[in-house]
Amino acid sequence: MKELLLIPGPTPVSDDVLYALSQPVISHTSVEFANLLKEILVYVKELFGVKNGFPFVITGSGTLGMEIALTNILKDNDNLLVLSHGYFGDRFEELAKHLGIEVNKIKPNPGEHVDLELFRKTLKEKHYTAVTLTHVDTSTGVLADVESISKIIQEVSPETLFVVDGVCATGGVKEEFDNWKIDVILTGSQKALATPPGLTLLAFSERAIEKRKSIKPRTYYGDILKWMVVMEDGTKYFATPSVNLFFALHQSLKGIFDIGLENYFKKHEDLARRVRNAMSEIGLTLVAKRPAPTLSVFLYPDGVEDKTFRGKLKEKGVIVANTLAELYGKGFRIGHMGSVTKDELIVAVSKIAETFEELGVKVNKGNVLNAFLS
Ligand code: PMP
Repeated sequence: MKELLLIPGPTPVSDDVLYALSQPVISHTSVEFANLLKEILVYVKELFGVKNGFPFVITGSGTLGMEIALTNILKDNDNLLVLSHGYFGDRFEELAKHLGIEVNKIKPNPGEHVDLELFRKTLKEKHYTAVTLTHVDTSTGVLADVESISKIIQEVSPETLFVVDGVCATGGVKEEFDNWKIDVILTGSQKALATPPGLTLLAFSERAIEKRKSIKPRTYYGDILKWMVVMEDGTKYFATPSVNLFFALHQSLKGIFDIGLENYFKKHEDLARRVRNAMSEIGLTLVAKRPAPTLSVFLYPDGVEDKTFRGKLKEKGVIVANTLAELYGKGFRIGHMGSVTKDELIVAVSKIAETFEELGVKVNKGNVLNAFLS
């Protein structure tokens, strides 16, 4: 039985992407690779909404992207304000502390959005070199209001650099690097971009690059200036990129842009709505007050034990993820992003309904399926 992987990343990869991955390896400094990279970077700019900024694709996971973001713009004793909607927002705090950066954090209860007035007040209290925000926190499913946060930064402290983690957002929801005055945005290949894990995609603004030039970054592999040379001319060498993953990313992005980015966003919204309607019919509570189109986090009804639920569901061929941190054991996370289809999700929804029924939850499966389909 082919399992349906519905964790919020890595997400399933289509056969044509797998085929692209299995092409013969080519030289990482060949003209062929340089041309492939050039095309990928055009797509990356579109994905992030970049006109004035520099795109990068670097071998490594999303966490590398987060580390590149901070190490290239912050130095010892700089102040960072972390806006956290969960486990992945918190990761910026952990990373910054590791680097000896002073950190303040605003973190509401799981599922809530950062209070915008509290953010404004905090930003006025001292000078922050940068603010980090996770566009979609994969632990709670909260979609951050990037535009409103950006407006407050512009009003209160326009010199503060704005860093956005798009790992669970990019491709599944619109991002506007230029309009939202983002200085560094980063994402990973393995979520809405429907590519195997292993690449981080980023963009830096001109002033973020200037900031890099003014500091000594505590990273060698992650030095954005070294990578810039490669991004400008793919025949140049800094460190060997995972060429086959670039084939896969190119194939997947081509597919997304063939569908059209706006249509791809709409598909995510549509699937999110259907899954939530169905789960609400089962009686499940959605954690996020401002939910993302890429994944949903639901709390279990009383009496349902996490390992039993996910174990039984796995036996039926559907894999969902456990909840993290404060929500550990209290619910499950389901991804509805990337290449996943409505047909696959209706099968998953039906199996989820059956599993809850087996665990003693009263479920009207017909109503659940109708809620998904309507
Ligand atoms: N940020 C977010 C929002 C994430 O969801 C993840 C991974 N789940 C990361 C960062 C870290 O990415 P990776 O696991 O690829 O290092």
